[in-house]
Amino acid sequence: MSYQGPEFEPAQPRRSPLRRPLVVVLAALVPGTLLGWGVYAASGGPGDSGGADTAAVGTPAGGPSSPDGSDGSDGSDGSDGKKPPPASATTASGPLEGKVVVIDPGHNPTNHLHTAEINRKVDIGTNSKECDTTGTATNSGYAEAKFTLDVAHRLRTLLQSQGATVKLTQDGDRPYGPCVDERARIGNAAHADAVVSLHADGSAVGNRGFHVILPASVHAGAADTRAIVGPSRDLGERVAGAFVRVTGSAPSNYIGDGTGLVTREDLGGLNLSTVPKVFIECGNMRDTKDAALLTSGAWRQKAAQGVSEGIVSFLRG
Ligand code: ZN
Repeated sequence: MSYQGPEFEPAQPRRSPLRRPLVVVLAALVPGTLLGWGVYAASGGPGDSGGADTAAVGTPAGGPSSPDGSDGSDGSDGSDGKKPPPASATTASGPLEGKVVVIDPGHNPTNHLHTAEINRKVDIGTNSKECDTTGTATNSGYAEAKFTLDVAHRLRTLLQSQGATVKLTQDGDRPYGPCVDERARIGNAAHADAVVSLHADGSAVGNRGFHVILPASVHAGAADTRAIVGPSRDLGERVAGAFVRVTGSAPSNYIGDGTGLVTREDLGGLNLSTVPKVFIECGNMRDTKDAALLTSGAWRQKAAQGVSEGIVSFLRG
């Protein structure tokens, strides 16, 4: 089985004014309190210094903490214990009331059983590409698709508690996919104020840290990202900043020049989006140290919290 995904394709090196100073501008938003902007200066260059095993900062490690693989514990995540929320409905009043967030859990736990379907090519504007991919896994077999669904459930709960209307592109409720073009269309049809596609990378041992993928300016065929490049970068910078602060993880040491930000024009999920959207690769499943984090329920809660705070910051402006 091949683990071909966005992770394995070379990112398009892009000119970025952020490159040289190797600085990520962060939106710092602790629960309920807007602190303002901060600056995280990445040391740059490969190496473990400042890596994910530095002390976590930010929120206490509250929330559900399930042992590795026991995703069943998240069955109740969609509920805050008060009332069962109707599907994709706003469940609470709060600062995000009226805002729509689409969460796109990368891959699908049973994609590997439907190789013919997921290998079918779909039009992504710039070219055609596989409908979907299996995703990667840790060396011990914890699948990326399980990781993305788990973080999606945690993230949904956090955003709903802020009053947002939240929709998932898939919830382990379909045999495969959706295809990347449909993933984009779901966000578009929902008129989402923000979309985040959740992933974990499958890179070489020693490659560590997270990165956020931003849409390039693409105008080809059905793809026209020109209107979303700016707001997506804003969203991505805020997600990256909050992710650093809440998880304690460093930006990737193998892509993005230490900024934690990468721009790509080869991802259908971004090319076909008409609403602000980013991907996040939360860590490298093939690195033992990163895998120890990704398989920890407590860490996944922090990851969801980081992404949530980035989204909240973006939506509150
Ligand atoms: Zn992925």
